[in-house]
Formats: sequence, C-alpha cells, structure tokens
Amino acid sequence: MAIYTLNTSIAYLKGVGPNRADLLKSELGIYTFGDLVNFYPNRYLDRTQFYKMNQLQQNAAEIQVIGTITAIKTVQQKKGSRLVATFVDETGAMELVWFRGVKWIKTALKVNTPYVIFGKTNYFNGTFSMPHPEMELLTDYKKSLRTALQPIYPSTEKLSNKGVTNRVISKMVESLFEEVNATFTETLSAAIMQNFGFISKTDALLNIHFPKNQELLTKAQQRLKFEELFFIQMQLIRKKMIRKAKIKGYNFDKVGDYFNHFYANKLPFALTNAQKRVLKEIRKDMGSNAQMNRLLQGDVGSGKTIVALLSILIAIDNGFQTAFMAPTEILATQHYNSLVELLNGMDVTVKLLTGSTKTKERKLIHEQLQTGELHILIGTHALIEDKVQFYNLGLAIIDEQHRFGVEQRSKMWKKNELPPHVLVMTATPIPRTLAMSVYGDLDISVIDELPPGRKEIVTAHRYDKNRLSVFKFLKEEIAKGRQIYIVYPLINESEAMDYKDLMDGYESISREFPKPQYQISIVHGKMKAEDKEYEMQRFLKGETQIMVATTVIEVGVNIPNASVMVIESAERFGLSQLHQLRGRVGRGAEQSYCILMTSFKLSDDAKIRLQTMVDTSDGFKISEVDLKLRGPGNLMGTQQSGILNLKIADILKDGNLLKLARKQAIELLTNDQSLAKPENIMIKTAYIEISKKSTIWANIS
Ligand code: ADP
Ligand code: MG
Repeated sequence: MAIYTLNTSIAYLKGVGPNRADLLKSELGIYTFGDLVNFYPNRYLDRTQFYKMNQLQQNAAEIQVIGTITAIKTVQQKKGSRLVATFVDETGAMELVWFRGVKWIKTALKVNTPYVIFGKTNYFNGTFSMPHPEMELLTDYKKSLRTALQPIYPSTEKLSNKGVTNRVISKMVESLFEEVNATFTETLSAAIMQNFGFISKTDALLNIHFPKNQELLTKAQQRLKFEELFFIQMQLIRKKMIRKAKIKGYNFDKVGDYFNHFYANKLPFALTNAQKRVLKEIRKDMGSNAQMNRLLQGDVGSGKTIVALLSILIAIDNGFQTAFMAPTEILATQHYNSLVELLNGMDVTVKLLTGSTKTKERKLIHEQLQTGELHILIGTHALIEDKVQFYNLGLAIIDEQHRFGVEQRSKMWKKNELPPHVLVMTATPIPRTLAMSVYGDLDISVIDELPPGRKEIVTAHRYDKNRLSVFKFLKEEIAKGRQIYIVYPLINESEAMDYKDLMDGYESISREFPKPQYQISIVHGKMKAEDKEYEMQRFLKGETQIMVATTVIEVGVNIPNASVMVIESAERFGLSQLHQLRGRVGRGAEQSYCILMTSFKLSDDAKIRLQTMVDTSDGFKISEVDLKLRGPGNLMGTQQSGILNLKIADILKDGNLLKLARKQAIELLTNDQSLAKPENIMIKTAYIEISKKSTIWANIS
C-alpha cells in the first residue's frame, strides 16, 4: 500500500491525474496533498432542508429534493438534443434537464433508485424543472463525509470550464481524507489547546471541509484562524528577538543637561499623557544596549515633533548627532524653523540641508558634521548622499515613512560602527492589529490623544454650484483675521492638466478676491524651492490671506492661524490624503473648517469617502474605512508584505484573535526562544515547515 504524506504530489490523489494536477497547480496553487488540505471553502450552503415536490415555489433559491427517476427521454432540438428525466416523490413530479453531456449522462442515470438532487428550479407551463442538477445516490449521500453544510470552494472560470466543479473538488478532498485515514498531525501544543479550548487539528480540518454542524464549523474556523495568525506572529516576533539580541545599539543611558534644561525651561506646553508615555518608551529603547527600531504613529496634530526633539536632546546628552529626514523641502524647512525656535538660547547647532542648499553652506555642513560640531542635521533626500558623513550618528528620525524606500535609509549610517537608533514617525495611522502584522518586528508607539483645547474641525461637503456661498463664507472668515488654504489635486499622469486646473482656479480666485483688499499666495510643484519658501513665509507671516496650492502642503505644514481648508475636486483624493490635508487646519485656538468641493457626479466609493470625512476626524477610523474600500494590500507600505495573503483569517475582522495569537507567541518565545522544550515539539515542527514556505517581509530599516 502506498504511503501518502502531505508532501505527496497532488497528481497521485485518486480522481486527479496529471491533467487535473496541472490545472490545480496553475489555477489554485495546489501542488501537494497538504496544499489541498489547507485549501479551505470560503462559504457553506445550508443543505439541512429537503423539499417535497408539492412545496416547490417559483423563484426559489437552490433547493434539494429526494426522489426517483421514473422515465428518461431524449428530445431533439435545433442544435443537438436535450435529455429530460421525470423525477418523482410521493407528493408529485418535476423534470430534470440536461443540454450538455447528454449521451454520457443518459447511460449513467439509474431508474427507480433514490437520488438526492440539488439545484435551482425553473417554472414553465405548470411544470417545475431543474437544469443540470447536482445529484447523488441516496445511499452514497448517507455514507459520505459530506454534510448538510455544503462547502463552496474558491474557483476560477477555467476550472469550471474544464469540469473541475465544486463537487469535484469536494470529492478530491474526500478521497484525500480517506487516503490519510482522516488523521493529521497536531501543530499546537497541549497547553495552547487547553488554554483556548481548541479542537484538535484533525477535527478542525474535518469540520472546515465537512462541517457536522454550525457549532463545530465555528470551532474549526476559530482554531485555524488562530493557528494561521499565531505562526505569522511567531515568525515576526522571533525575527525581532533575534535582531534585538544581535544588533547592538549605542547605549544612551544618560539624561543630562540638554534634556533637563529644555524640559524645565523651554517646553512651551505640558506634554499630553500619550506624549509622555511614548517618550518613556523611546528612552527605554535607546538605553537598552540594543538598536531602537520604533514606529511612532500619531494622528495629524498629535504633537510628534516635540517628542522627536526631546529624543534628539537625549542623543546630544550622550554625545551623539541626529539626522532628521522629511519627505519635502517645505516640511524639512518647517521642522528646521520650529526646532531653531524651540532651541533658541540653547547651545545646540542645527542645520538644514536640502537640494537647494548653496555650495558654500553645504561645505560648511559637511565639515561641521565630521568634526561633530553639528548636533542636528535636518533635511530631505539630500541627507542620504554619499558625501554626507556624520562624526557619530546616534539617532535617525524619519518623518512620514512611506515616502522613503527601505534601502535609502540604511545608507545614512553606512559609516557608523553601530547602527543609529531609528524612529520612524507617521501620521497615516493604520489599525493597531494591522500594524502588528505589517510592522510586527518593529516596536510601535502610538500617540492616541490630541493636545487639550483642540476644537473639532467642522467638515462640510459642497457641490460646485454652491461656490458663491462658499466664497461668501471665506470672506467672512478672512474678515475675522483667519487665513485659508485652497488645494487642487495633483495627479501625476497629467501634470500639465493639473497645472492648468490650478492656474484656472488661481485666476478665478484672484477675480473673486481682488487686490489690494486680498493677497494671495500660490505654491506648486513646478516652482523653485526658494520661491516656494518665500510664498510660505508670506503666508506664515500673515501677509497673504489665501494660499492656493497643490498637495505639496499635504504633510506636516503647521500654520496655526490658517483655519479654513478648501479642497477642490475632493472626489479625486484618497481618504488618507483628505485627512492629511484637513490636518493642516485646526492647529490654533479658532474654530476651523474643511470644505470638500466636488462636482455632482460621484462614484459610490467617493460618496463613502466624503461622508466619512464629514462624519469623523479620527485618523484610525478613517484608515479603517480606507482599508475596507481599498483592501489591505493597497495600504502604504504593505505591498511587499506577504503577510496579508491569509488563507482563512481576516486581518480586519479577526483583530481580537490576532491580539491573542500575538500575546501567545510572545509568551511562548519568551519562555522557549528556540522551541527546544519537548512540550513545544509540535509547534517547532510546524514552524519549520511554515517558515520554509513563508515570504514574510517586515523589516523597515
Ligand atoms: P504632528 O504630530 O502632526 O507632527 P505637531 O508636532 O506639528 O503635530 O504638533 C501640532 C501642534 O500642536 C503644534 O503647533 C505643536 O506646537 C502643538 N502641540 C504639540 N504638543 C502639544 C501639547 N502637549 N500641548 C499643546 N500643544 C501641543
Ligand atoms: Mg509632523
């Protein structure tokens, strides 16, 4: 007798053979017995109910009936022929009809033998009929593993065209279970099974394919989802542990004069509790001998900059330099300006390096970097040029992580003896459970609280035809001394057209808001950096009341007196972009507004996006809607991640299970990092098997 294992090629399974094996490989990625076992149905049809012929109704869903065939006839048609069987039970009769495979079916049908049939009925001229029913002899039906909850497997058009129907797949799974005597090796430890009250691996697999009842199906799903999430977390956490043990970092064990002086005398406001907590996490990391690799998530306006500065001061207290990278020149300049202002009167040197830094200044920066005289270098991509060499880079802060590629970052500390601590800050929050998976080997801090006294931004959706009343409102706000952003979309595909939109808009706004009463700034991507900066400064100083811009102002810009954000063609923006843009207002004490302008024609998704913006300003909620609309695969930074190709768990819906799985994985690996304990042997074996196939990518630096 042949011995089958889960690694046996699927071609050797009864009912498969080489042709079907090729189809299974190309269409479903099923190569082995094991792959088929782990190919789960994505839904189930309830077949608990049987109908009698006299209960049949028009327009009913799929139904099943028990009966016998009493007569078979072939009816000639224009094209080919049709096979019609009379099917009866004690209450009445119906017709079963076939248009394809007539010859073969005719010989296979048994007369006067009870069948269970399943399908959708038609009603015509007082007679019910069922085309191409699924049918099985009642005796087989009673013997079969298959149950009242009929599994429906994911399929493709090619498969059904080649006759590999749902029933065929189900049959294959059934023969597989026969071959392996329906027993499977356990993959979780007895402790975990008991702790969570899980059913065994064998029972779980049996019930996922052939559920005995709804309760067991649910139990099977719980266990298999947990298992899937658990082994992903095991890999991520192990990776993190290994990194922490291996990658030594500079030990910032001192909190000294720089930090203390600033904290006591210069801090412009009391930190929120969330800021304090996050700062503690960062301090602990940087003083732990291991390299910090931390993601700081915080909604727009939650106050990440001050946390960054305090971390920098710790680096300086320990004799190290900091690089602070921002995705755009405007943003880098702004960070530079606010740090200079905050550090005013302190003996800290800060410089700005961007693409438009003059050669002379550049040279000076290079020198001061190498002597260690320069404490903080703020800049754009210019920071990662080869010429930029630090004396001792101890901390790298990266604002808005998604704008930088992975390999770009590591260039910065190529010259270091040890890697610097890394703090990545993002204002594009993703749900924590997702972050756990996508960035599972990073440490994550969250600022989940806004500074006190912020007023909710009033958000409204207006159509183009309401423009006059919008302009009237803007004038009222300007009269109160407020400033206004008007933003146009920038879609890379047709820069020229976007530019035209922007300029047309600028012209009509100039007409509506004439000089000298009104002054208008304009900033867009085609301008030179110094011109952009000049316009930003005019707006910041209050010399202009309106800033017309493309999305260059999307991230980070902080001008507290600006209290109205008008977004033109808002339907063309994604949710996270809208949220970022809105975050530019609501930074001062005044009531702020965001007005989303659109045309009348809106797609369903656009309607949801706009409504979400009107309903909430919670970045985490917004990113959840975004995820639902676009799917996790489209989320920033997750594209390369194999983590989201889940077989059964749903990263959004199974958040609680994910937390449990993660907790369990941490606990297990803390007690038994190499899984050497005998009670964990099952987990170890499964882990090795899974790791071989896994394509997990999750390293940010
Ligand atoms: P973001 O997290 O979006 O980068 P910022 O660091 O730019 O936010 O902070 C937004 C605004 O909130 C700034 O004007 C900043 O000075 C202010 N701010 C930050 N923390 C606090 C706090 N604890 N109390 C009051 N205002 C704060
Ligand atoms: Mg910021």
